[in-house]
Amino acid sequence: SEEKISCIGCGVTIQTEDPEKLGYAPESAIEKEDIICQRCFRLKNYNEIQDVSLTDDDFLKILHGIGESKGLIVKIVDIFDFSGSWLQGIQRFVGGNPILLVGNKSDILPKSVKHQKLINWMKREAKELGLMPIDVCLVSSARGHGIREAAELIEKYRNGQDVYVVGCTNVGKSTFINRMIKEVADVQDVITTSYYPGTTLDLIEIPLDNGASLYDTPGIINHHQMAHFVDKRDLKLLSPKKELKPKVFQLNEKQTLYLGGLARFDYVKGGRESFVCYIPNEITIHRTKMENAQALYEKHIGELLTPPRKENVDTFPKLIPHEFTISEGKTDIVFSGLGWVTVNNPGKTIIAYAPQGVNVTLRKSLI
Ligand code: GDP
Repeated sequence: SEEKISCIGCGVTIQTEDPEKLGYAPESAIEKEDIICQRCFRLKNYNEIQDVSLTDDDFLKILHGIGESKGLIVKIVDIFDFSGSWLQGIQRFVGGNPILLVGNKSDILPKSVKHQKLINWMKREAKELGLMPIDVCLVSSARGHGIREAAELIEKYRNGQDVYVVGCTNVGKSTFINRMIKEVADVQDVITTSYYPGTTLDLIEIPLDNGASLYDTPGIINHHQMAHFVDKRDLKLLSPKKELKPKVFQLNEKQTLYLGGLARFDYVKGGRESFVCYIPNEITIHRTKMENAQALYEKHIGELLTPPRKENVDTFPKLIPHEFTISEGKTDIVFSGLGWVTVNNPGKTIIAYAPQGVNVTLRKSLI
């Protein structure tokens, strides 16, 4: 029979088809009396938050729910993919609730980048994207850098009220919350009180010490992220674990760089010039002449130029050109979710290609 079963942890409707969607439980769990979803199971037994993804509609419902509650919103972005990991429109939905903006993955950026410079950059970007955060901070959830400071800011701005952690998938939201639990929450507490009667919000609740709670919201899929176009096995390539090593190329006019098979950088005009590439260390960069570039791509996509993988070439989106003339010195051309190329001097014409649906943007150089 098609009886609806709910998770006794979070109240979500149980399904057994898709492990990555909300409410998943393995078939074997269905026979038990008290059924909990995998997400609650992991939280209860391993004290670990597992991310689930949601459709846009469901996510909007959650945002509306938060807007009607009182509390601090902690919005996590991936500083390696700032605009790609942005959640549009959050400011509109959260009502009068303050937003603390947390930039995650600080460990990926070269150590030479000054902390304050990054904070200022985040503030500027946030403003441009229409967000007015009450404060901004920078963390590496993987390494634990800045977590204490983030916890202190959360404590300061939540005013004894609940905390809602939001972010799109892959920003490191689970890693962040798990770090927080380890460093600042009472672990015993989390384990024993993570069962909550069904809420309509599908939020995971982590009790804080004064009776308020920290809520993990499901991550939303941002369809513009490069990560959605690569094979699962290549995701780790796009999620660097180490400091990026800048790679410098001296180019003549009419030369091309391929960033794996994921993006293409044509230097059209401006005389001999050096360009600095900041992309994951494992992705190989190939240089060629512009006139040969298309033929090279057609011949070697999926092999020499990879990712994508050979078997995914057919479904990989077409590379779309974006033309720029750089008017200021030291500008980054950002391939959302892949990295960026720094152009050192003004007056250069560049055509940057990215898969259809992935953004290419300009910004004042970060480094
Ligand atoms: P979620 O989907 O937002 O919950 O993201 P996850 O916590 O699952 O993390 C997504 C990916 O980013 C994983 O490969 C993590 O290992 C990686 N990650 C998370 N936090 C950091 C960080 O601070 N630095 C680095 N380099 N990687 C991180």
